[in-house]
Amino acid sequence: MTTGSAPDLTDGFHLLVDALKLNGVETIYGLVGIPITDLARLAQASGIRFIGFRHETSAGNAAAAAGFLTGRPGVCLTVSAPGFLNGLVALANATTNCFPMIQISGSSERELVDLQRGDYEELDQLNAARPFAKAAYRIGRVQDIGLGVARAIRTAVSGRPGGVYLDIPGAVLAEAIDTATAADTLWRVVDPAPRQLPAPEAVDRAVRLLAQAQRPLIVLGKGAAYARCDNVIRQFVETTEIPFLPMSMAKGILPDTHPQSVAAARSVALARADVVMLVGARLNWLLGHGEPPRWSTDAKFIQVDIEASEFDSNRPIAAPLAGDIGSVMAALLGRVRELPIIAPTTWTGELTERRAHNDAAMRKRLAEDPHPMQFHNALRAIRDVLVQHPQVYLVNEGANALDVARNVIDMPAPRHRLDSGTWGVMGVGMGYAIAAAVETGERVVAIEGDSAFGFSAMEFETICRYRLPITVVVLNNGGVYRGDEAPTSGTDPAPTVLSAHARHELIAEAFGGKGYHVTTSAELQSALTEALASNGPAIVDCELDPAAGTESGHLTSLNPKSAVTPPG
Ligand code: ADP
Repeated sequence: MTTGSAPDLTDGFHLLVDALKLNGVETIYGLVGIPITDLARLAQASGIRFIGFRHETSAGNAAAAAGFLTGRPGVCLTVSAPGFLNGLVALANATTNCFPMIQISGSSERELVDLQRGDYEELDQLNAARPFAKAAYRIGRVQDIGLGVARAIRTAVSGRPGGVYLDIPGAVLAEAIDTATAADTLWRVVDPAPRQLPAPEAVDRAVRLLAQAQRPLIVLGKGAAYARCDNVIRQFVETTEIPFLPMSMAKGILPDTHPQSVAAARSVALARADVVMLVGARLNWLLGHGEPPRWSTDAKFIQVDIEASEFDSNRPIAAPLAGDIGSVMAALLGRVRELPIIAPTTWTGELTERRAHNDAAMRKRLAEDPHPMQFHNALRAIRDVLVQHPQVYLVNEGANALDVARNVIDMPAPRHRLDSGTWGVMGVGMGYAIAAAVETGERVVAIEGDSAFGFSAMEFETICRYRLPITVVVLNNGGVYRGDEAPTSGTDPAPTVLSAHARHELIAEAFGGKGYHVTTSAELQSALTEALASNGPAIVDCELDPAAGTESGHLTSLNPKSAVTPPG
């Protein structure tokens, strides 16, 4: 009988952490519980930062925002069934917004789930995730952990980025494997998002169209921000002198103060443009589906996108340019310089005039300082502080809080604004703010409607626990849209009404942050200045007129109205 030493063993927990580390994952956003608590501990012990949340949707939103901000998939870790489903909301939102993200979830054993034997937190998570994610994979054996992680990373960031679900049953995490064999099962993904060059004939077609344009317009979307090719986009815009319109999360690729920005002449630019070049922007509801009357019936579209199936989704695309934005814009830049292509001054002059007219109207509006505060004077005060802090990241959600802030607050730098995005969703605020602070180390200001803040307000405890430099400004008019609606009957509050005079700043104090309550724009300005200087967590509850705001903000027309006159 020989007595050899026992084989050196590792297990799925360790292997998963090793695979993530090998692929450069530095942070995991999650919420622990069965069966992934040890995974979080091991990740932390290995040097990965684990940020523990109070609700999985916020953890997932943080991972999604991390994906947008870094270009690498943000990782979210959830427990089985309910925790998984909470996280799935964020995974679906990430996929809709084209943000790369991986949700890793522990799950029950296949033999129990598949026969529906009623396990603790039992759910067929893989199939539940499929319709809401770019892809969903399950790892069924410990030796496949490296493969599963590589596949998830590759899928999340290559082509059109999106959310990937990675299912790992608890037994696979606990499964032992020989250490030497295990090391051979891991690899680092090479060039996870390869460049995709456009076809030369597609470039020619687009350039021919641009050369004929009398009223060209460039629309920059958040795909252009995500592509991280700010320099080539800027050179293209400045070489051609074509006016550009940034979608909200594309603000700052070129500064909003740039003379060619026509954000302040948006309606005229859209309605009159004859050749429109969409760069990382979809012709979805945010752009009126490209339809008249918002757009001209005769407008012709050039679209730059990595996802060819996006073309013709709403209007005919006369010049589709499939490829990554950096490569496509570089190819276009070479050609427009040769020709050259310059936007006609009659058109640029028309838009400059309209912009000056609208800017003057906005300046006049912002000079008013009503009391109780309205959205405009509150946001003017915030703007005046943020101008002094161009490096601050801005998170923004709400209805009026979103619409007015987008118009009033200029962005000087790319990828510094995170907002409700493609779904127009509420509840992303604290998750996005936490990711912005964690990933960049910069200060963050979250401008929140009081209703929007409520969806993720408990994450302020997370913000305080990690001492993150986040200031939340709650534009508090005491309701969803506004707080002054009378009940239609009985004594219950109207459906749109929240607690009057709620003091959100007390939430900050509960967890050791700084709280401010302000009722004038001057108080708001000094509270925000002080909060930013403190570099710590703060909430500024900003008491607005309960009658401030309009129903659904700029989206009033999307509300279907009852065909039957209500009683009374
Ligand atoms: P917005 O809401 O700002 O208009 P969208 O989210 O609608 O922007 O559009 C983003 C588009 O950008 C998506 O169609 C996506 O496929 C595309 N996209 C994302 N990253 C890249 C990239 N690196 N190169 C080319 N297109 C990209």
